[in-house]
Amino acid sequence: MRNVYLDYSATTPVKEEVLKEMIPYFTEKFGNPSSLYDKGLESKDAVTHAREQVAALINAKPAEIYFTAGGTESDNWAVFGACEKLKSKGNHIITTKIEHHAMLHSCAFLEKQGYEVTYLDIDKDGFIDLKQLEDAITDKTILISVMLVNNEIGTIQPIKEVAAIAKKHGILIHTDAVQGLGNLPIDVKDLGVDLMSVSSHKIYGPKGSGALYIRKGVSISNYLHGGAQENRRRAGTENLAGIVGFGKAAEIAKNNLENHIKHCSELRNYLKDRIIAEIPDTYVNGTMEKRHPGNLNITFKYIEGESILLLLNQFGISVSTGSACSSTSLEPSHVLSALGVPVEMIHGTVRFTVGDFTTKEDIDYVVDNLKTIVAKLREISSVNSTKGW
Ligand SMILES: *Cc1c(COP(=O)(O)O)cnc(C)c1O
Repeated sequence: MRNVYLDYSATTPVKEEVLKEMIPYFTEKFGNPSSLYDKGLESKDAVTHAREQVAALINAKPAEIYFTAGGTESDNWAVFGACEKLKSKGNHIITTKIEHHAMLHSCAFLEKQGYEVTYLDIDKDGFIDLKQLEDAITDKTILISVMLVNNEIGTIQPIKEVAAIAKKHGILIHTDAVQGLGNLPIDVKDLGVDLMSVSSHKIYGPKGSGALYIRKGVSISNYLHGGAQENRRRAGTENLAGIVGFGKAAEIAKNNLENHIKHCSELRNYLKDRIIAEIPDTYVNGTMEKRHPGNLNITFKYIEGESILLLLNQFGISVSTGSACSSTSLEPSHVLSALGVPVEMIHGTVRFTVGDFTTKEDIDYVVDNLKTIVAKLREISSVNSTKGW
């Protein structure tokens, strides 16, 4: 049976070249980067090199890159570090309704500590409203955090404009760019952000490795306390092989960016066109403009996304439903709810994300099976339905 992975926004396989770079750092080059003998210095040099590679991908200075254990830690550090540092100045945070749970649950935790959080709406295309953002600012606002690219519907937010507004009001601006990294050109200087979260395993690097960009001159409190690693700002012996792998993945992503975008968007559009043409009552969620090149989010009316997922799985096809990160919960996706998709439609939603290893044959295999699966499920649903479908 064919195996087709269409869930690249959940995670990606580690590329061969990345793995090859990493392996020596598990075995012969295992030194602690903080040790002063050659074996330590060799590791330290590897971390330095990786820092340059990650910095180059987002046009940061290497000294502005702080390695973490992934996107979740970076988001947590950004929001908790900013709030702790600025708590004498205010207690108000502005974010959006469509952030990743790494941000939303951190904000919910802060609300319990007495912070106030404004969650911005999105319009029917999936974008925030800059006017609503500016209106939400008070003299107590200490942080604005808006994600660059949404993980469910792929919409790319106007971060440059958001950052300009934040700057005008002297407020710290953070963006979760985990889904943006390697999927669109990112230039932190041009965007004008203070803090940016990125992750390795969404760009063909290893899991458990990521970084927080902290613009030079920006001060937030430390999140992990201990040794003097990462310029005394993020303690803990470095995830050496993970960092080396992230660096290599970032280098490849930079060199391959144009091809990657072209490859993914062509296959994604082909997938969309075939689904829309060949399966009736299907709808794309979120605009196709300003969207992650590999992302497609589709509602199949009258049926459950979970049933589609399970049947596709029987054909060796991996996709995700409504809310990828809560695929075990029955809560309808907070992103699709914010988009205004009715609850029964949210339940019929599937997210497909294509990546570097996806082929046209993969897409044909998926659509051919999908057609049969959707027809079969709709037949059952119309026979059993008591909802008047
Ligand atoms: C995957 C993801 C994260 C979490 O990153 P991890 O490295 O898995 O912790 C955060 N934000 C977004 C938008 C993501 O897609």
